[in-house]
Amino acid sequence: MATRTPFVAGNWKMNGNRSLVEQFSNALNSESFNGVEVVVCPPVGYLSMFAAQTFRLGAQDVSHLDNGAHTGDVSTDMLSELGAEYVIVGHSERREDHNESDLNVAAKARKTLNAGLTPIICVGESLSVREAGDVNEFVGKQLGALVGEFSPAELAKCVIAYEPIWAIGTGKTASPEQAQDVHQFIRGYLRDVDAEMADKLRILYGGSVKADNAAELFAQPDIDGGLIGGASLKTEDFIAICQAAI
Ligand code: PEP
Repeated sequence: MATRTPFVAGNWKMNGNRSLVEQFSNALNSESFNGVEVVVCPPVGYLSMFAAQTFRLGAQDVSHLDNGAHTGDVSTDMLSELGAEYVIVGHSERREDHNESDLNVAAKARKTLNAGLTPIICVGESLSVREAGDVNEFVGKQLGALVGEFSPAELAKCVIAYEPIWAIGTGKTASPEQAQDVHQFIRGYLRDVDAEMADKLRILYGGSVKADNAAELFAQPDIDGGLIGGASLKTEDFIAICQAAI
């Protein structure tokens, strides 16, 4: 079984300001994360204001297009220049607010990977899908779009984030068992494509992860870390969550 480097990413969403950037730069740079890959994903305008030393930077979205006449969009070239090494793609809020389909998400992940950046690709079901007992079918379809786009060697370089929509920002975390069940399904689905890739690929859990529930989630065998929303806006909470992944 491959040893996977633990990974924690903070998604600030459309929150933060200069003073929070300074606070995070100072607080995180005085910590050591003992082998955990720590990534902060602020709104794009703040990326270049960070002094990141002990952590890395990521963006929350990217265009699937090249530089050119695409008003309001931001390209992978621009993100690289601003210091981002990771890009969250397919967050449920983008799927919902901007009608992003599985194919759009795969195209953004493709653009990200081709630019030498790491896509953090979000999948996950709504409450109605869970209540109908269709979680695996739904998540399997989202994974199918990725398997259709990427070779196993390429997929091994991506990070997947399982984020049940009903748990995002609601305070309703999936139990460690519920999360592990879906993570195991995701790894199993990908193992059927290529076992080596499935063992290498990091799968994060996201959905109301807090300092006091992170350790038991991260202790599950197929959970390699977390994608953190609300709790990534407070330095002490985010640092505690990163330390729970060690
Ligand atoms: C997220 O934004 O991806 C997320 C998981 O949010 P929260 O941790 O607030 O549920």
